[in-house]
Amino acid sequence: MNLRRTYKTLAYQPSDVSTVRRQRSRYSVRLWSVRQARLFEIVYNALADVFLKLHPVWNAIGYHRVERPVIFIEKTVKSFLFDCRMCGQCALSDTGMSCPMNCPKQLRNGPCGGVRANGNCEVEPDMPCVWVQAWEGSQRMRSGDNIMRVQKPVDQSLRDSSAWLRVTADKAAHQNEKTEKTSTKT
Ligand code: SF4
Repeated sequence: MNLRRTYKTLAYQPSDVSTVRRQRSRYSVRLWSVRQARLFEIVYNALADVFLKLHPVWNAIGYHRVERPVIFIEKTVKSFLFDCRMCGQCALSDTGMSCPMNCPKQLRNGPCGGVRANGNCEVEPDMPCVWVQAWEGSQRMRSGDNIMRVQKPVDQSLRDSSAWLRVTADKAAHQNEKTEKTSTKT
């Protein structure tokens, strides 16, 4: 009996079968989203503009107060479409709408050296490499060259916060800075 169990443990596993064995259905929406990268780029840019226009509203209410409902919406939408892990520093628009946090090694700047010949992950052989997907998605986007940008290491303290609000606040601050500079010059 014990011998049989030992044999089972040591049994040969074909190279395309993952020990994790994520069901393809679990990431089929993610792969679909990468195929629609251009559409999501347009939607994201429009959404970012609306958020920026609403900056005075967010400011008046207080960013910390609106964060909870925004996180709820962001998490629901992005988890469904991109398998988002809410790292808080979204790179989707730079990575062809393929979330790098789904890489088992969580690499943010391109694939490791272990991508399989069929374009799948070396850790999860059933799963297409998120960076191969990122490259394909970026080729469909207008701002596809953004994939060459170097991503900062993940700041774990930002986990579970809203990337949408952070980007909006940063852009608004940048805009204010610019306006102040031009007004001091004149
Ligand atoms: S990069 Fe971060 S915020 Fe963007 S989809 Fe992936 S986990 Fe979510």
